[in-house]
Amino acid sequence: MYEKLPVPFGLVRYGVAPDHPEVKNVINSFSKIAKQKNFRFVGNTSLGEDVTFRNLQNAYHAVVLAYGCSEDTILGIKGEDLKNVLSARKFVGWYNGLPSEKTFMPNLDCSTAIILGQGNVAVDVARILLSPIDELKKTDITSYALEALSSSKIKTVYLVGRRGPFHVAFTIKEFREMTKLRNVKTVLNSGQMQGLDQLLQGVPRQRKRLTELLIKVSQAEQVGDKEFVPLFLRKPTEIQGSTSIEGVKFVINKIDNNLEGKVSSTEDTDYIPCGIVLRSVGYRGTVPDKDIPFDSKKGRVLSNSGVYSSGWINTGPVGVILSTMNNAFHQAALLVEDMNSNKLDTLQSKPGFELISNILSQKGIQAVSFEGWEKMDKVEIERGKQLGKSREKIVDIREMLAIAGE
Ligand SMILES: Cc1cc2nc3c(=O)[nH]c(=O)nc-3n(C[C@H](O)[C@H](O)[C@H](O)COP(=O)(O)OP(=O)(O)OC[C@H]3O[C@@H](n4cnc5c(N)ncnc54)[C@H](O)[C@@H]3O)c2cc1C
Repeated sequence: MYEKLPVPFGLVRYGVAPDHPEVKNVINSFSKIAKQKNFRFVGNTSLGEDVTFRNLQNAYHAVVLAYGCSEDTILGIKGEDLKNVLSARKFVGWYNGLPSEKTFMPNLDCSTAIILGQGNVAVDVARILLSPIDELKKTDITSYALEALSSSKIKTVYLVGRRGPFHVAFTIKEFREMTKLRNVKTVLNSGQMQGLDQLLQGVPRQRKRLTELLIKVSQAEQVGDKEFVPLFLRKPTEIQGSTSIEGVKFVINKIDNNLEGKVSSTEDTDYIPCGIVLRSVGYRGTVPDKDIPFDSKKGRVLSNSGVYSSGWINTGPVGVILSTMNNAFHQAALLVEDMNSNKLDTLQSKPGFELISNILSQKGIQAVSFEGWEKMDKVEIERGKQLGKSREKIVDIREMLAIAGE
């Protein structure tokens, strides 16, 4: 398994929120596999830079591309390039210690934040912005993020979507957690919930329960100094400001068909003043090497005999860890099927890691083994202990490599 970063686990380490440690327990299952004799982790090795797709094909009978979707979708509206209009992906990378985002530094010196998007990533970002700081202190959130969040002036976080409450992409567990945050009230306009109860018959159970909770919360009396405000049927058209952001202009949508989630624009507009905007409208797959068979419209790898893909670069950037793992098991079964029916030409021997190892040595690249990661893991846990946290992540690649090479 070749990995661009010196450490394994992808978005389980760098995406999953620090206050959801139980979700990261899947790392234990990954580590068990990594310790099998016939598995090799090769970190700090980037496909398309350090090794090419052709190098891998020359070395192995089958190549599985599982490099995820690491770009974010943009809105393409005026003002999107203003300072403090930020990508939620980068913001998450920043608080989670992704080396490339360690200097990201959002400006939290304003009272109102607008998050554009209503998926679980958007809710994660809202929760991190509004959580009492002592609830984050013990997690593996990076120290620099903790420091910045401690002096944050943000009191109100809007979570804005272009469709209605019946079509939010976040799930019930994440929303319920928001409604229980200490000192935070969830403000839902009950007018926006009108007629929803009549749609509930026959809809899947999870959607029904989530909609019932939205209706209930919209009717409940709430207290708290800070506010979480989900807003529906608003399409952003412009982010206004000059040197800093002043606010976001929206066109108000109307629902054409609530069951199908069809909406269209009206003539009406809305404007919300704010000092920071976080864009959370989805991820995008890219192609790191021109020889990879790739559908650039869909942003996905095209599989064929000997070339397989798995995870988000196979399915598109949707789904949780469980669905991603199920996809991986399915792709592995396809590979085994091809191998058993001799489609992979395994009679001709291939050099495997030896070839790649030579290429990496020639280029002077320090590959990191799983034992190298385990050394970093120990150091991170130890540093965390000293700070009363579960872990303090190392964010500097040179430092990671120095520890791995010890
Ligand atoms: C912010 C966020 C929060 C999430 N929270 C949850 C949650 O709480 N619960 C849940 O179940 N799911 C959650 N998910 C979803 C979950 O993270 C994904 O389903 C899963 O990680 C996708 O796995 P993947 O292997 O396809 O991609 P990734 O996890 O992104 O792994 C891809 C790996 O490929 C590496 N890579 C990229 N380019 C190259 C290259 N050129 N060469 C070599 N290596 C490369 C990357 O560094 C990365 O390690 C979250 C997702 C995000 C974005």
